[in-house]
Amino acid sequence: MSALKGHPKGLYLIFATSTAERFSYYGMRAIFILFLTQALLFDKEAAASIYGSYTGLVYLTPLIGGYIADKYWGIRRSVFWGAVMMAVGQFLMFMSASTLNNTELAHWLMYGGLGFLILGNGCFKPTVSSLVGQLYEPGDKRLDAAYTIFYMGVNVGSFAAPLICGYLGDTGDPHDFKWGFLAAGIMTLFTVVLFETQKNKYLFSPSGEAIGIIPDAKREKKEDKADHISHPKMDARTKIRNLIIITAVLLAFFGYIFTGDWISVGIFTACIVFPVLILLDGSLTKIERSRIFVIYIVAFFVIFFWAAYEQAGASLTLFASEQTNRDILGWEMPASWFQSFNPLFVVVLAYIMPGVWSFLNKRKMEPSSPTKQAIGLLLLSLGYLFICFGVKDAVPGVKVSMIWLTGLYFIHTIGEIALSPIGLSMVNKLSPLRFASLMMGIWYLSTATANKFAGMLSGLYPEDGKVKTILGFQIATMYDFFMVFVVMSGVASLILFLLSKKLQKMMHGVE
Ligand code: GLN
Repeated sequence: MSALKGHPKGLYLIFATSTAERFSYYGMRAIFILFLTQALLFDKEAAASIYGSYTGLVYLTPLIGGYIADKYWGIRRSVFWGAVMMAVGQFLMFMSASTLNNTELAHWLMYGGLGFLILGNGCFKPTVSSLVGQLYEPGDKRLDAAYTIFYMGVNVGSFAAPLICGYLGDTGDPHDFKWGFLAAGIMTLFTVVLFETQKNKYLFSPSGEAIGIIPDAKREKKEDKADHISHPKMDARTKIRNLIIITAVLLAFFGYIFTGDWISVGIFTACIVFPVLILLDGSLTKIERSRIFVIYIVAFFVIFFWAAYEQAGASLTLFASEQTNRDILGWEMPASWFQSFNPLFVVVLAYIMPGVWSFLNKRKMEPSSPTKQAIGLLLLSLGYLFICFGVKDAVPGVKVSMIWLTGLYFIHTIGEIALSPIGLSMVNKLSPLRFASLMMGIWYLSTATANKFAGMLSGLYPEDGKVKTILGFQIATMYDFFMVFVVMSGVASLILFLLSKKLQKMMHGVE
């Protein structure tokens, strides 16, 4: 497939680094909730809350990591320290799982491990994502394909990890969890070694300059001078005052809505405060501001994508376990295996999609980036509509065919390929260089918010005898439950389709 060829070698280094890192992230995640309930003996509710807070915070810290990279460290140093911190985190998890006889120590080691994983991911994820774009000249037509290849690497790791770490750690004996964490730790160390030993060989811009060494803010200042652009000075005092007021109001507001749930309060507040903070930066030109607005608007809609998509780990796994016939020629497939379907489909579709876009491009029919996001949302809605047919006439107590869940994951994955890598590429194209990693952090905020939101929505999962309601609609059956997502992502898609022409104008020439 020609769209997959002809990329800088650095892309394949980033591919391999991300495969190894995502292996460790998803490997640990696959056994984490089981470890909490079976080895550390948390009850299900407490375990779900720790799990939710962890996955929420993991996507919040890219904001901090992105800021540090742009302003102080540069991307290379951030990727390195991010991976080192994650390796420490995985080894603390291993130590926690090795000291099960001392419950208190095991708990502290686990919390310490999570802390390092959260901080490490914050430094690693936005920076490695923005590094992809730096291998190309601005306006290079290969960028969407490059991000799709990168995304393939991410999913090679996500596919293999639950199988291997699950095989080693989830054996039924709580003392074996440590082997799953050890495998994740070794892969993180491998990430560090691979990146450190290869970065000087492969990470260059098209003009041959080493990339990611100095902070992007400094790099852009140099380029600005060359272009004779001068930015007005920002008024720091007004900025701080406005920021304090906004933060206080939001903390009070979300504190009232999510009483006692400080992680949700923090995530939702940060999701508004930080984007505003960037807009208050006086150095932004009109065009830069307009492009940043596009990122914010699209990121808002993308929240609805991930909130419906992330049902995979929660309600859809329950559906797989309780209401799906998993019998294959007399053998019952484990419910958790459905979670490997998606990364497998991503790898296959990521191979095909760049060719599809370039086919459309040649015929002047390629959709704009915001339209591709709307297509992603539409496919998500269609995936849920598909499964609605499967459960519509289902008789209680009789499990439905696995065709329905498999079809849903396949349709969702086509949507993901249209939305997720193209979204990363779009953020890269629209961000001023000096905010490149920070804007990736902002983009990942929609995943942080969505993860929290997904947990709330999966609480609507129908349970015997209980009728739940959302916005006045009653949820009594699986059909009603899936319809929530058909409508939610369908409406979000429609609005984004309607906005896409306007958004394209606001992108000022970026495609
Ligand atoms: N599977 C992707 C990854 O791990 C999804 C990221 C996201 O934005 N939600 O990178």
